[in-house]
Amino acid sequence: MQPTGSSIAWLMEELGKLPGIGPKSAERITHYLLNTDVKNVLALADALRDVAQNVRRCRQCCNLTEGELCDICSDPKRDPNIICVVEQARDVASLERASAYRGLYHVLHGRLAPLEGVGPDKLTIDALLQRINQHSVKEIIMATNPTLEGDGTALYVSNLLAGTGANITRLARGLPSGSGLEFANAQMLADALEGRRAF
Ligand SMILES: [Zn+2]
Repeated sequence: MQPTGSSIAWLMEELGKLPGIGPKSAERITHYLLNTDVKNVLALADALRDVAQNVRRCRQCCNLTEGELCDICSDPKRDPNIICVVEQARDVASLERASAYRGLYHVLHGRLAPLEGVGPDKLTIDALLQRINQHSVKEIIMATNPTLEGDGTALYVSNLLAGTGANITRLARGLPSGSGLEFANAQMLADALEGRRAF
C-alpha cells in the first residue's frame, strides 16, 4: 500500500528494499524508470505481478514452479533415488547449469541461523522428512553452502535423516569456503558432486 509520501518516494523506498540496492541506486533506477518509455515500465510491473501471482513452491521438492510439480520432479528421466538438498532455488539453477546431476532436489528455502532467529521451523525440513518416509531413497546429498551456517544446517538435517537408511553425502570441498553455490562455476560444481563423500 502506498505510504504517505509521494509516488516517487514510494518507488524509491520499495526499490531500496531489494538486495544490493542502496538509497543511491534506488534513486538512480527510479529516475531511469521515469525517463524511459512508459511501455517498458508497465512491462516490468506486469512481470512483477506475474511472478508474485503465479510462482509457487513445488509440492514435492519446494523448488519454485508455476505448476503443482516443478519441471525436474515431473521429468521421468530423473533418478528419484537421489535427492540433493540445497538452500535456495537459485542453487538448483546453478547445479542444473553444471549438467552433472540427474537426481531430484529438495529446496530448504534458507539455512539455520539461530542468531537471526531462523530455526528449523522456518525451513522445509519437515517436508523433506515426510518425503523420505513416504518414498525411501538411496542417497541424500547435502549441498548446502560451504559456510558456517550451511555446514551447521547440513549437520542438523543429516542427523535427522540418520535413521532413514539412505546414504548421506556432502559435496566435496573445493568450492570456495565461506561462499555460495551460486558463485561457483559449472566445472567446480560438477567436481564437487563427483567427489562427494559420506557425511
Ligand atoms: Zn519439484
